[in-house]
Amino acid sequence: MTRPRARYLRLLYLALILGLGAAFLRPAGGNRGLALRYTVHPVPGGGFDVELHAAGLGRDHPGFRLLDGWGLLQDQSAHVDGFEARDPAGRPIRVATGIREGTARWTLAGSPRDAVIRYHVRPYPPDVSAEASFVDRTRLVMLGYSLFLLPTGVDHYEPLDVTVRVDSTGFPLWSSWPEAGGVYRPGSAHDLWSGVVAGGAFNPTRLNRGPVSVTVLTEPATGRSTGLTIANRLLPVLGRMVEFFGAPPRGDSLSVLAVYRTRPAPPGRSMMSGNSEEGAFLCVASPDRYADPQSLTQLASHECLHFYLGGALTGGPEPPYQNSPDLIWLVEGMTEYLSYRFMVEAGVLSPAGLREVVARKEREAAGAPSNVTLAAAARRMDRMDTYQLVYSRGFLVGLLLDREMESRCGGEALNRAIRGLFEECDFYRTGKALTPDFVRSEFDATCPGTAALIARYAEGNARLPELSGEPASAATAATVAGTGR
Ligand SMILES: [Zn+2]
Repeated sequence: MTRPRARYLRLLYLALILGLGAAFLRPAGGNRGLALRYTVHPVPGGGFDVELHAAGLGRDHPGFRLLDGWGLLQDQSAHVDGFEARDPAGRPIRVATGIREGTARWTLAGSPRDAVIRYHVRPYPPDVSAEASFVDRTRLVMLGYSLFLLPTGVDHYEPLDVTVRVDSTGFPLWSSWPEAGGVYRPGSAHDLWSGVVAGGAFNPTRLNRGPVSVTVLTEPATGRSTGLTIANRLLPVLGRMVEFFGAPPRGDSLSVLAVYRTRPAPPGRSMMSGNSEEGAFLCVASPDRYADPQSLTQLASHECLHFYLGGALTGGPEPPYQNSPDLIWLVEGMTEYLSYRFMVEAGVLSPAGLREVVARKEREAAGAPSNVTLAAAARRMDRMDTYQLVYSRGFLVGLLLDREMESRCGGEALNRAIRGLFEECDFYRTGKALTPDFVRSEFDATCPGTAALIARYAEGNARLPELSGEPASAATAATVAGTGR
């Protein structure tokens, strides 16, 4: 997907964006006794050979599956070749393949307790999207969800005994997973599927401050200064996020692995896409976009904010995008709005720059169909006009709520409402998904009257008042005054 250079060019890859935390189904089932030992052998230009020693399968986990039909990479299981299973003595186990609940399954005959699985994953074109696992002569990117077949019946959020080894490629490797002694240890199935390993020809820049660290990988062609620029801008934004919510999204620190890859763009076109993994953010941009650190920072800011809005705070999933369309105003719209606000508060975007963004969002929203709600747009993210509405009208709804709540109730009411949701409903602690009713009532409890605003503007399609022409509200003024704190 490309957009004309003249237009505002951030192009987030929709479904990815829709909150990874919400993207994983949450089946019942236990992980006790299950041990998964993956070894990945990258074959430059040829994809990945994967060997899995699985123990404790049995009737609870009779088969294997990929996270399929998700995001732009449809039919990921079609990239899996040569699946074979053997028992620990090396005897072949019969395998039945088929589709269940829309995803490909490999089911082992006789439900063996232990098995050695081998399969090959054909690589995706290196420049096709931020979602793609690939390996070529100089570098590789391995994304958990397109690489690892996982036993069926696994609880995705319960602790899981899983390790990943990557055979030496001679490449330096970076990963979003914790590593010790050359072995990666994702803590759960969710972490396995949402993790990333990148290696080879990347320039790394690492910065940290307090509980926040960021490692930015850029391709050599972009020059070393780009990575440092992005890292310098992203670090204070991440710090502001942690301050805003009062804690890292999970655990006691926030470590981000940001991978930026260039891709060729047709002449006159520009392209940029991103998606967020747990603790990792990936981005593909066309070379001209690398000349614009502000757009890159905003994309990163948006994606990393999904660790909270879309990760820790997430609505119940709905196929095919597997997030609650009725909460798209919060998960995407508010994320888009706050990503810019945090940049101002972190001192990497000027208040005047934010005003320009507001005016641009109003132009974009005016150019989109006016009779469509955000929830309806969220179900039609494959269409550019409705797709854009989510990020233009959604942004403006966020700004409107911020200003209105501040003028009615003061005391950074919007901040308190969102932070309150995090403190009360953090999915990683509570296992609870947000519902539209709950969110509306929580906002209304923080600042009476907000539920009606949400119903009218966020859930409904009432015409928004002009926001770019208004003087800065108390909220914005307080925000700007807080810069540099
Ligand atoms: Zn997003």
